[in-house]
Amino acid sequence: MSAWIVEKLYESWRQTFLATKTFFEARTEHQHLVIFENPQFGRVMVLDNVIQVTTGDEFVYHEMLTHVPMLAHGHATEILVVGGGDGGILREVLKHKQVTKAVLVEIDQGVVDMSIEHMPSVSAGAYDDKRVEVVIQDGVEYMAEDGQKFDIIIIDSTDPAGPGEVLFTESFYKNCAKRLKPGGIFTCQNGVPFMQGDELTDTQNRRKPHFKDAAFYVAAVPTYVGGFMALGWATQDPAYRKQGAEVIHQRYSANPFPTRYWTPDLHVASFALPRYVQDLMEK
Ligand code: SAM
Repeated sequence: MSAWIVEKLYESWRQTFLATKTFFEARTEHQHLVIFENPQFGRVMVLDNVIQVTTGDEFVYHEMLTHVPMLAHGHATEILVVGGGDGGILREVLKHKQVTKAVLVEIDQGVVDMSIEHMPSVSAGAYDDKRVEVVIQDGVEYMAEDGQKFDIIIIDSTDPAGPGEVLFTESFYKNCAKRLKPGGIFTCQNGVPFMQGDELTDTQNRRKPHFKDAAFYVAAVPTYVGGFMALGWATQDPAYRKQGAEVIHQRYSANPFPTRYWTPDLHVASFALPRYVQDLMEK
């Protein structure tokens, strides 16, 4: 029996999906989780009434949040993913042959289990890869520990509400900076700037004290409505953002892997930001 499912991320603007089949709907230990089928976007996951991932367009977000830091770095072997229980970031990270370890710190076991069961194409077997270690824990606690350092830290979290809120704080970013190896790169899901401008401004101001270079790059994810999505970027080396397409092309041709959105030229172009986003960064 079909039904309409409404995303309630914004006060005065909503999007609605036709759900032709619902595979799962329940409250997990942390969130209300729904997975349903939609004729346009395939299988769709919703957490606390906010669209998280669809099998139709997830490649955009997962490729950009993974391959931009990986190719900018050039020889990252140890990767940390916070959130990302659907397994899409893990899938993309594991495409890089030099990766020896990928740690996923996810607060909600239910998201991992239901993603594997009802959206298996997203993780595509990543959870069975021997390089993967899954830690079911609040990412803010994990980052506060004096533990392993990583080449790349990717925060694939929900929005700054509910369990995800702590992953947008200055103390969390300070700890992320501590858990990066020299030359390390931080990236994160940072909202849709046209709709969540304050989030972009606030997170930029919280990262700047702890990283020499804090900025954003963008990707057009159809189901994250309101224009392109901003992906947060933070490193101790501003040169990463100035790499030309030639460097990225060379690295990619040395170890090519299949993509449907990311390309070396788009990698470089994605750091070019419209004036209104630059203005939000400088507020
Ligand atoms: N691509 C989506 C987006 O851009 O909004 C994110 C998808 S992924 C499913 C988000 C994950 O973050 C969820 O699995 C959620 O359980 C996890 N999460 C939220 N707060 C967390 C926290 N404090 N620590 C670890 N994982 C968290």
